[in-house]
Amino acid sequence: MSEKHQTNKRKEQLITTLIKTSVFLPIGRTVILDYLERITFKSIVENARRRLKEVQKKKFYFIKALLRCAFKNLERGYISKEVGKKIIDTLVRAHWTEGKYEISAREKFKNKYGFGPPSFLVLSPTQRCNLRCPGCYAAAKRNAPSLSFSIVERIVKEAHDILGNRFMVISGGEPFMYESEGKTLFDIWEKYNDMFFLVYTNGTLINKEIASKLAKLGNVTPAISMEGFEEDTDKRRGKGIFKKILEVASNLREAGVPFGASLTATRENINTLLKDEFYEFLFEKLGVTYIWLFQLMPIGRARIVKELMLTPEQRVALFKKWVYLLEKKSYCIADFWNSGVLSDGCIAYGRTGGYFYIDWNGNIMPCVFIPYYEDNVFQLYKEGKTIADALFSEFFKRGRKWQDEYGFAHQSNPNNWLMPCSIRDHYVNFKKNILTKKAKPEDRDASIAIKSKNFEKFLDAFDKKLAELTDSIWKREYLAKGLTSKN
Ligand code: SF4
Repeated sequence: MSEKHQTNKRKEQLITTLIKTSVFLPIGRTVILDYLERITFKSIVENARRRLKEVQKKKFYFIKALLRCAFKNLERGYISKEVGKKIIDTLVRAHWTEGKYEISAREKFKNKYGFGPPSFLVLSPTQRCNLRCPGCYAAAKRNAPSLSFSIVERIVKEAHDILGNRFMVISGGEPFMYESEGKTLFDIWEKYNDMFFLVYTNGTLINKEIASKLAKLGNVTPAISMEGFEEDTDKRRGKGIFKKILEVASNLREAGVPFGASLTATRENINTLLKDEFYEFLFEKLGVTYIWLFQLMPIGRARIVKELMLTPEQRVALFKKWVYLLEKKSYCIADFWNSGVLSDGCIAYGRTGGYFYIDWNGNIMPCVFIPYYEDNVFQLYKEGKTIADALFSEFFKRGRKWQDEYGFAHQSNPNNWLMPCSIRDHYVNFKKNILTKKAKPEDRDASIAIKSKNFEKFLDAFDKKLAELTDSIWKREYLAKGLTSKN
């Protein structure tokens, strides 16, 4: 290691120690929170070059909310010191010092392919689940397929080594049910301890023992699925599930593991999701650090329940609620479709800083909500390739071209990022200009959906109405507020 690199390594250790020491002292916490907020504002808003000012401000509000929610839970002991330290280690290394004393995998990828790699992938190692919720995209069956542990490990290693990923999302099926070759996902989380894992789970299997194992690891955060209070949650997930979630949340708080809630908005629970009371319950009482808000997508079994999908008017109401909760209450919430400004639009197709999705059959899809694929890990591995090769399929390339044209490549005047979704918000375009002939449907439902004229008519009408409702908000609230001042 050269002298310069050794100096950088020492700096990393110093920064990490400083943050770790101050974060656990009340006075230090206030100082460091204030400092982090100031530097975040400076780098995201003041120093951003010719970006829409309001887009950058929303990103700032989001990071500020995340910091505040995390610091508050540290203070309450809901995030233990050990876990807090581990998160700081991983984040400092991944975001502030990676590449400072060695060429990072991300840089190597960029030099080789001419664009930055995706920041993460979503991996669903199993379709098996202990619940059967109507509308779930996993359409889970009890004896559903799983990837073998060797394949899961190979995927994680490639994401780590080739794409330089230090963050990964595990979905399902139910990840805590996964078992193969005598191993579970704990073996992955333990081995890849310089990565941070967000795990979507129904939570029901997280007993005290599992919670304490997660606390020891310190690099996993469960996002627990729920619909609302007891009535909404039990209606979709089954009787007694809400009470079970309260118990699980208590296990996680006691162990000091940060966790979040994953909410699916439908026409049935929208009224709950528009109430402050629900978010106050989640953040103040249950102790979540973040909320990921999804809106029911009419794919998988949800094709059958498309009448549960939010109307365009309800989606706009939820967008306004999100802005209010983020800016006025500093609640860390991201709404997968209404928060498109946080990610500069759609993040699918392995876009730079974005993601892609691998399911239990090894099919490689652009997004969890786009159930079509060209490549499969087994076939790639047979040909001596890696998961990175899937990023260069015609399907993925067309998707990235659309993202670029829509706004990602011209961020001073993007199209309406209040409807960023390449499939749901622009369905006709998706079928015509992104989906390739070679792309295969993931399952029977996806196959029926893509051939159905009625389904296309339904989504096209949704998209047109949504454009009518949001174009004026986009112009008034984002475009008209101008650009950040740096040239
Ligand atoms: S395709 Fe839609 S759901 Fe998927 S990342 Fe893009 S915006 Fe999000």
